[in-house]
Amino acid sequence: MSNSEQVLVLVKPDGVERGLVGQVLARAEARGYRIARLELRRATPELLAEHYAEHAAKPFYPALVEYMMSGPIVALVLEGAQVITAFRTMAGATDPVKAAPGTIRGDFGRDWGTGEILNIVHASDSPASAAREIAIWFP
Ligand code: UDP
Ligand code: MG
Repeated sequence: MSNSEQVLVLVKPDGVERGLVGQVLARAEARGYRIARLELRRATPELLAEHYAEHAAKPFYPALVEYMMSGPIVALVLEGAQVITAFRTMAGATDPVKAAPGTIRGDFGRDWGTGEILNIVHASDSPASAAREIAIWFP
């Protein structure tokens, strides 16, 4: 397929725990993207240190690692022209309180009063990030 791109999507532990895997996959399929890889995974500290390297020095990083290791993750690769930009739009703003209705985070997320951001999905934010993250999760 010409101009085809791939994006790494993670249904994070809160999304799996809350039974939202089907809704995330349904939205990707309804939009017409192809699922190229799909696997139930557990994150490790080493894998997260690579995946979230840009955030390793941030104050929220320890809580982020705890969140990402709190249960199984569904890792997938979606394929299609401009899928990186499209899926970032479908995911919505990082903070689910600010995410627009119609987005995954805006439709299924909220502030749970714990001081953490639980936002259901991860999606690569650029072609370089997508290539790097796909290599980490699907070597
Ligand atoms: N995060 C957090 N607190 C923050 C910022 C980010 O807990 O103040 C977490 C959140 O789970 C987010 C992830 O770290 O999804 C990565 O942050 P980024 O800014 O890259 O947001 P994203 O690309 O996921 O929208
Ligand atoms: Mg990010």
